[in-house]
Amino acid sequence: MGVDVGGTKIEAAVLGASGDILARRRIATPAASYEAALTAIVELIRSMEGEVGARCSLGFGIPGAISPATGVVKNAYNSPFNGRPLDRDLEARLQRPLRMMNDANCFALSEAVDGSARGAGLIFGVIVGTGCGGGIVIGGKPLIGANAIAGEWGHNPLPWAEDDERPGLACACGKRGCIETFLSGTGFAAHHNIAHGTALEAHEIAGRAEAGDPDAKASLARYENRMARALAGVINLLDPDAIVLGGGMSNVERLYERVPRLWGNWVFSDRVDTRLLPPRFGDSSGVRGAAWLWPTGVEA
Ligand SMILES: [Zn+2]
Repeated sequence: MGVDVGGTKIEAAVLGASGDILARRRIATPAASYEAALTAIVELIRSMEGEVGARCSLGFGIPGAISPATGVVKNAYNSPFNGRPLDRDLEARLQRPLRMMNDANCFALSEAVDGSARGAGLIFGVIVGTGCGGGIVIGGKPLIGANAIAGEWGHNPLPWAEDDERPGLACACGKRGCIETFLSGTGFAAHHNIAHGTALEAHEIAGRAEAGDPDAKASLARYENRMARALAGVINLLDPDAIVLGGGMSNVERLYERVPRLWGNWVFSDRVDTRLLPPRFGDSSGVRGAAWLWPTGVEA
């Protein structure tokens, strides 16, 4: 079973050995208290185990990560889990070992195992949604890192920033001008709305661009240029075989053609063979990747 524990919703799915989903359920994250959220997660897991008639291995995708230094969740803004020993508390209640990893790592793992980047050796998975996360999978294994933050490119500054991009908007992390403030769906909408005095959501702006609205087209073109610069920085560092987009902005189809046409301007190479791919599983990659944290489906 994979469980995607978000700040607003918790989703769980039981996968068969071949990756088929046997059961799936989604609940709202109880915002009242950490204890209430723990109880809801345990009840969700028990009821799904009852439904499929099996005791499952348990993998969890979470916003942020368990800090190797302190053993508690870090970097999970606006969630009841930040600062809590979520893995140990769930292990105690569920009476079994579990595996827990950053949700963008789970996304990248899902797309690497049997998703759109299947067969690629080094994969960078990007979630451009409410925030902007990243995860790295090498040879089928997620890279965690000494501080459990590998792939967190969203809180690097936007590279090759132009004068009107500095210092940039305030980021949830406390800095200004992070990649997240430009490339998240929230950031995309904020830049458009500030420039044009509107109050549109990211998907509405993308729809207007599709329909030929000149302001929306300009905003999307600027977004593509920024994504190309940000991903060129990733390519220069990691040289991945494939980059897979997830989150709401991954639904904008023209990104897959336009961004790779631009990123060669900043990549230090004669040509760029890295592929930019849409996700195969979309929103399901969170739970799928979490389930794949136990590759055999058997408790170790
Ligand atoms: Zn930031």
